[in-house]
Amino acid sequence: MERVLITGAAGFLGSHLCDRFLKEGMAVVAMDNLITGDLKNIEHLFPNEHFEFHHHDVSKFVHVSGNVDYVLHFASPASPIDYLKIPIQTLKVGSLGIHNCLGLAKAKNARLLIASTSEIYGDPVVHPQTEDYWGNVNPVGPRGVYDEAKRFQEAITMAYHTYHGLETRIARIFNTYGPRMRLNDGRVLPAFIGQALRGEDLTVFGDGSQTRSFCYVDDLVEGIFRLLMSDHAEPVNLGNPSEITIGEFAEEIIKLTGTTQKVIYKDLPVDDPKQRRPDISKAKSILNWEPKVDRSEGLKITYEYFKSLPKEELYKKDHKNFDAYTK
Ligand code: UDP
Repeated sequence: MERVLITGAAGFLGSHLCDRFLKEGMAVVAMDNLITGDLKNIEHLFPNEHFEFHHHDVSKFVHVSGNVDYVLHFASPASPIDYLKIPIQTLKVGSLGIHNCLGLAKAKNARLLIASTSEIYGDPVVHPQTEDYWGNVNPVGPRGVYDEAKRFQEAITMAYHTYHGLETRIARIFNTYGPRMRLNDGRVLPAFIGQALRGEDLTVFGDGSQTRSFCYVDDLVEGIFRLLMSDHAEPVNLGNPSEITIGEFAEEIIKLTGTTQKVIYKDLPVDDPKQRRPDISKAKSILNWEPKVDRSEGLKITYEYFKSLPKEELYKKDHKNFDAYTK
């Protein structure tokens, strides 16, 4: 039986990948240190005999016994608020963490895929973003810890590919949403839905003219799977090219939730990218992939998920496990 190691397995994307690879008939070794991940996302998998969980920080030496055929490195804080709270851990998981994964993949002769990000384009001056654009990143700004770690991650992954001949894949993931996002991680979609459910005003940062393009999680997982199974080692953008301003997005959430609250404006965070939309021509031609779920459909499913959570979740300040790592 083929076996896949997924780091960040208790997180939003990691947990959906666990589901998918088990469905594909593979055994899944799930790894997470649970700083931002949550066991609730994967507890339904514990009875599965082909699923095992390792509570481990991938920034420290990684050991997995037996065969490993694929390694997917998805461990990392992924919201701008998180990078501000745990900047050193963000840098470590993107540098020491990937080095450990690459070492393991090399030892096991496994194929490795990394979760890179549209953040490597920084505040882009090329629009939409194509894979051959090198980006516009501030290395010493608040987002630098994430952006530079991900850029390093691409560099070291490519070095293992060219120097050691390791089979590697690089997914540049654009904003993705869906069930199991953390309600209080500060990202725009859980922020808006949480505010609507609590009866608070929706906080738009800046004047709301900045754009994002949101991809539903099932589409993203399909793209990741196809990329892993392809023979393409160069980076590939994965995201939904349907672009919207954050101001319009707030209006969509107001309609969806039926909240009677209004939009209020707050300061734009430092280095917040003004526009973001993936050019997915490459994924279309190489992987025969494009998103299928439109935003209205995906948002409905996601809203139902957030509504189904216990009420107290809505009022939790943040993830409990931060404390242990920030002291
Ligand atoms: N944003 C906002 N209100 C919020 C949270 C975020 O207007 O309560 C904006 C944020 O400034 C950014 C966009 O929404 O322009 C997306 O932010 P997010 O943190 O989700 O991810 P990013 O794409 O910036 O990494």
